[in-house]
Formats: sequence, structure tokens, C-alpha cells
Amino acid sequence: MRVHLVNPSDVSFGTAVITPRWLYVLAGATPRTCGDPSITDETLDPLDPSIIGPGDVVGIGIHTSNALRGYTIGRMARERGAWVVYGGIHATLYPDEAFEHGGAHAVVKGDGDQVWPIVIGDCVAGEPKRVYDGGWVVGESFVAARWDLLPPDRYMWGSVQTVRGCPKHCSFCSVWKTDGQVARQRGVDAVVREVVELRRLGFRFIALADDNFYPVTLGDLAAAARRKDPARLESLKAQREERFELMRKLAALPGDIYFFTQITMEAAEDPEFLKAMKTARILGALVGVESVTPEGLKAIYKEFNDSGEGLVERLQEFRKYGVHVLGSFIFGLPTDTPETFAATADFAERADITFAQFVMLTPFPGTIDFAKWEKEAEPATVGGVPVTRHWLIPAALRPKIYTKHPVMTPDELRQNTQVAWDRFYSWSAIWKRSRCVRSVRARLAFLLVSKLYRQMYANTGITADSARYSRSTRWARRLAKPTRRLFIGQPMPDLQMPS
Ligand code: SF4
Repeated sequence: MRVHLVNPSDVSFGTAVITPRWLYVLAGATPRTCGDPSITDETLDPLDPSIIGPGDVVGIGIHTSNALRGYTIGRMARERGAWVVYGGIHATLYPDEAFEHGGAHAVVKGDGDQVWPIVIGDCVAGEPKRVYDGGWVVGESFVAARWDLLPPDRYMWGSVQTVRGCPKHCSFCSVWKTDGQVARQRGVDAVVREVVELRRLGFRFIALADDNFYPVTLGDLAAAARRKDPARLESLKAQREERFELMRKLAALPGDIYFFTQITMEAAEDPEFLKAMKTARILGALVGVESVTPEGLKAIYKEFNDSGEGLVERLQEFRKYGVHVLGSFIFGLPTDTPETFAATADFAERADITFAQFVMLTPFPGTIDFAKWEKEAEPATVGGVPVTRHWLIPAALRPKIYTKHPVMTPDELRQNTQVAWDRFYSWSAIWKRSRCVRSVRARLAFLLVSKLYRQMYANTGITADSARYSRSTRWARRLAKPTRRLFIGQPMPDLQMPS
């Protein structure tokens, strides 16, 4: 019997940017008595079915976008006589679907860290339960990833998680529902130990793969003080102090390690926190800007963000402290007009954003937007599948846009989004932005990474033109290998934990 862990994907690039953390965490949770699990990340190469045999246990992690590919793999694995188990956000939200479409024997809802060994044991005994509830595991119980199982020379960045859950409740996001609104922080030493292990292997760039790296804002502290809630205030203060302790320890690691994370914009009001990020070399952060207008922010329950000039100033604040922003914008909000695209691209330039992503509003399951859309959507089907189950539509037939916009057609939305990407990632615009790094080598690296990001994300995600899609995939494959060399350093096998 062998345990297999599979990250499904329709596209394989040969090299990937960030290590898919969950695969290696579940490998860590796999009992050693079962031997080392076989790990397949299909963003690198497609799964070879011949490695799966009767009695094996196949764990497939799915989110909405790769669910359909995951179901194909599950059916194939079941035909080969294996036990098929699904987990991940999508399986948590739609456990029955994995049985109906994916040949599942069992589904794990919630975190897999603690329950995975039980599932394997039940499969080996021939009696898996239909559904396991892994719940929300507390920070101290997060399982460490088995980085010793990483294939050599395939990934550019390592990934370590420091906190799960997000106290916000944005309408387009499912994180606060699937991971909860309580920030579950992991112990500082456990985080640093994994960073050390990754640097030993040669990784110099590490994504802190958190839902929200800044779970306690100055506003939260002020609100707890106002409410005269000393217990809450103390607990928030302790949580915040733990963030600073983590950043102090990261700062004590070798100076060639850099971090990237995901954070809310409120951090811009917290100079002490930004200063600590800089000292810890957390030099990049994905910030959900979403919309540049107050109406747009209201529509997505993100009124804690600024808009207009205030927003420009807030984002510039990150740069003042040396934190580069990957700004994430959403197009297709009901309040958007044809002018929104150029206004947003202008804004991104003025706000000194280093990278940007322009995503089209898609109703993802588990979100407030999805629930509303599902109720109101016209009963249309594509390829015999209701559009409210759009992830089950075969990829070649799948529409790029599902929600009806009050003033724009789906094509207008898609083309304007593509124009915003083209403008932000034109050669001249990237070269101008590359002044944020000093040496010519670093500027070239910046060019490569920007173009790679553009090819991997935009062209393969939103283009409706299949020739452009295939071209982009080929380009991304070619760019990915040389780009990887720019990120990886000499291994440091003797690196010790900082005292
Ligand atoms: S979008 Fe970001 S801030 Fe909003 S709920 Fe999701 S993780 Fe939290």
C-alpha cells in the first residue's frame, strides 16, 4: 500500500513558482509506518496513472478551479483499485459532489493536519467513513511540512504558514468561512524551523502563505479599549506581540532570505508593524485593493479600505518602508463602468505598486456573492451543466464571466480587463518599475518575473483565444526555468536555528 497526494491541474509548466504547501503538510501528517508518500503536483507534470495500484490511498486536494480535473483523477484512481479521498476548500463546501463526480470513498472537511492519519488507517482497514470533519486545528497543532520530499530544481519559492483564518468578511472571499474568523497563529519557533529547513535546501524567497499576516489592527485594539473589554484587549495585544517576536526571529536569519505575504491595507496605518516587516525582510505583500471607488468597496463589504487619493497615499506608505505591493483589483463590480479600467490602471501607476493583478469578479462558492448570485441567476446551462455549478463545465466550454453586468457585456469586461493587464505589463512600463531594484541583473530579473507572472496568470486565466492560451503556456514554460535560477541560492546544509 502506498499513499499518494495529488494537486490537480489542467496546465503543467514544468517549473512552478511557489511550493504547494498542503501537499507537504499532508505528507508530514502521513504516518511514517506507511513509508514516504508519493507526491504529484500537476502544475509541474501530469500524474502518471501507472504509479497507482490496488489498495493505495490517493488524497486529492481541490479548490473550485481545479475540482473538475481532481474528479477525473479520482475516478481513474478508483478504477485502478485505490481508496480515493478528497480534501480542500471545495470538498469542504461540496462534499457530496466528490462522490457523485469524483469516485470518492471519503471526503475530509476542514483542516487535514490531525485527521489524515485516521483516514489512512480506516482505508487500510477497508472501512473508510464517508465524511471526516477535520475542524479548525489550533495554531500549535499545525503539522510541519516534509520539505525533505521536495523534488530538486522545480520550485522558485518555498512556502510557510504562520496564521490561518481572517477576521474580515469580504463578500467575494470564502476564507473567513472555510478557515474561520479567528486568526489561529502558529508558534514562532515552528515557523522559523521550517524557514531554516527551506534555506538549507537553497530557497532564499519564501511566501508566508497566510490568509492575512496582519490579523490584529490598531483599530481592533482601539475598539477593544473603547468597549472596556480588558480580556479581549490583552489577548489581542499578546497576538500582536507574537507577530513582532516572529519578525524579530526572521530578521536574525541569513540576510539573503526574503519573504512575501498577504496583508490588509490597514497595516499602512501602523508604522511600527511596517518597520518590523522591513527589518524581517518581508519585502512584498499582496494587498487586496479590489476597487478604487467608495461605491465599489461598499458593494464588496470592504469599506475598511480607503479610496481615491487616500488610497494612493496608503499604498505609498508601504513603499516608504520598503514593502513592495502586489495590488489585487477586481473588475466587473456592479458599480464599474467602461471608464473604470483606465482609471484603475492610472491609479496603479500613481500608487507606486510594483505588481498588479486584475481579476474578473467570479462568484466562488462559499462566498456571500455566490449565495446571492445562485439565488438570482437565470436557470441557464452550458454543456448540460447549470451555470451555478460552473466548475463542472468542461474547461473548453467554460464561460469566462458568469454575472450579468448592468452596463457592460461579458466581452467588453473581458477585453477591457485584458487591456489593463497589457498596459501594466508592457515592456516599457515594467522597465520603468524595475527602477525599484538597483543592479542591472536585478532589473533583468524583475523583467523576467513580471512577464512570467503575466503569462502564467493573465493569458492562461482570462483569454478566450485558444491560440493565445497555448502560446502563453509555451512562453511560461520557457521563461520559468531561467527565472528559477535567479531566486535560488547555494544550499546552506549547516544553517542553525537563530538563538
Ligand atoms: S479578502 Fe482578504 S481580508 Fe477579505 S476576508 Fe478574504 S482573506 Fe480576509
